[in-house]
Amino acid sequence: MTQTTGVTITGASGRMGQMLIAQVNASGKHHLAGAVERSGHPWVGLDLGEVMGGASTGLMVTDDPLEAIANSQAIIDFTAPAATLEFAALAAQARAVHVIGTTGMSDDEIAALEPASRHAVIVRAGNMSLGVNLLTQLTKRVAAALDEDYDIEVIEAHHNQKVDAPSGTALMLGEAAAEGRGVALNDVADRGRDGITGARKRGDIGFTAIRGGDIVGEHDVMFAAAGERIILRHIASDRSVFARGALKAALWGQGRAPGQYDMLDVLGLND
Ligand code: NAP
Repeated sequence: MTQTTGVTITGASGRMGQMLIAQVNASGKHHLAGAVERSGHPWVGLDLGEVMGGASTGLMVTDDPLEAIANSQAIIDFTAPAATLEFAALAAQARAVHVIGTTGMSDDEIAALEPASRHAVIVRAGNMSLGVNLLTQLTKRVAAALDEDYDIEVIEAHHNQKVDAPSGTALMLGEAAAEGRGVALNDVADRGRDGITGARKRGDIGFTAIRGGDIVGEHDVMFAAAGERIILRHIASDRSVFARGALKAALWGQGRAPGQYDMLDVLGLND
């Protein structure tokens, strides 16, 4: 019998948590070794299959991530920044691959992952889909080819429950555009315009966030000049694209040297 990779899913009841569990169950290469929710969550202590509306599986949802991670080769984590930092320390102790899909992490929170990445593999990406990762490469190339006569705007749309803005994907695309232009995103990012903002500053990279309904995730990178516009667009219509990317990352990370990686590494798109 071929051995499958044991995976713990954190935030098991979340939109991505449930999608990840479904994809692990459908995978011939992974098995579910743990399902974690925060203390006090109504799912804790109950059979995962039953709370998801199916047959019992014998796997109980736990609020003890250490126990779950100890039995896993990988942890797939789409939760919240503070929780992700806790899970990183535990994954490092267990030498488990930590796949981080959580967005909205501050620069300090990202820097705080460094000690964990000395002991274990971390794969972190604001978007785990093949399409968006390809789009970042295209964005970088177009930004490198065009000068500042082309104003760059990243426009994103998500469902009405999303808590952070701009999206992690929008920031990835902004980073790619900045890299293509040879500038630091922090120096040129224009986020959250309101009121008398004055004219657009040449060279800025602007961000706009739309929130509504059940939109899974849509991103445009617009290059607007006098007389023409180029728009690169990605539309995710199903969360399974992110889950499949995360499962791929969990396998890819097995046996790699400790360190921080992203989906471009996993997909072999890093140039
Ligand atoms: P969600 O439905 O709110 O799910 C988040 C889950 O994490 C909830 O079940 C939440 O529990 C749980 N959680 C929070 N803190 C926890 C803790 N300390 N311990 C255990 N569980 C905890 O959100 P979502 O739509 O699934 O998105 C989750 C994250 O993934 C967001 O940051 C989102 O932007 C990101 N995301 C990334 C990608 C990508 O490709 N990288 C794609 C989609 C989404 P409670 O309900 O009790 O708070």
